[in-house]
Amino acid sequence: MKKTLKERKVIMSEIKTIFLCAISNIESGTCNEDCKFCTQSVRYKADIERYKSKEIAQIVIEAKRARANKAIGFCLVTAGRGLTKKRLKFVCEAARAVKALDLGLKIIACNGIATLEQLLELKSAGVDNYNHNLETAEEFYPEICTSHPWSERYETCVNVKKAGLKLVCGGIFGLGESHENRISMLKSIASLEPMNVPINFFHPNPALPLVENPLSRDEAFDLIELTRKMVPSAHKIMVAGGRELMFKEDEYKIFERGANAFVIGDYLTTAGKTPADDIEAIEALGYEIAKECMAKA
Ligand code: SF4
Repeated sequence: MKKTLKERKVIMSEIKTIFLCAISNIESGTCNEDCKFCTQSVRYKADIERYKSKEIAQIVIEAKRARANKAIGFCLVTAGRGLTKKRLKFVCEAARAVKALDLGLKIIACNGIATLEQLLELKSAGVDNYNHNLETAEEFYPEICTSHPWSERYETCVNVKKAGLKLVCGGIFGLGESHENRISMLKSIASLEPMNVPINFFHPNPALPLVENPLSRDEAFDLIELTRKMVPSAHKIMVAGGRELMFKEDEYKIFERGANAFVIGDYLTTAGKTPADDIEAIEALGYEIAKECMAKA
């Protein structure tokens, strides 16, 4: 049933607990795909750090740092269309190493297209959640990527649920999509009933074919609200990439519009604020930082 504006405001005013998630870019800038918004594609030669496999010892250091920075989620991200045999082995090794620390972190893997069998293997290595974003609407997808179809993305999300992993599935706004496209993407996300919906705001880079994000700050706030409204079953609406750039001094107002999670520390290829600054700011505003993930299976 459609909620009134007043009812939505009540929901938003109830947001008191904020969930933090940290990212580890364990393989960076090695992707052959042509997503026009992504600096990790080798095609655009963006000026970013590129490497194959981060040392496991370094991943362990980052996991400990994430927990010290109050993150409850730790995301192992690889660049590439999907999981190869070698990549799967590496992610499993990283997941086992982080799990062995017993820090109370939920391990999220974000490794692109994956089969059911691969996802089951990740699960047995200790991965709790799998993040795969639909990025944009099915009908707009060919405008931003021609090297793989949107349907592969959706199918992977279905596989995640079949494997018994919790699904983290969102997208990116500000790619030149229409409002109808945004609604279409959110409907597709809602049909998958994800636990967490990460929303990103396009961060322009001069090397990319897409050069600007046409969204205004107000439009971006409305999109957080729209996401909360259209995916009401999600335990978390997470503002991920582009937060600082999109919202500037209003960045913590995202919680007044329906977000209850964000990425702490650096993003994949862009620097974030220092975790201490974020933590201090949100606690000063009266929010509590979640000590554990309370999402139901
Ligand atoms: S598949 Fe993923 S890593 Fe590769 S270019 Fe597209 S968004 Fe970037």
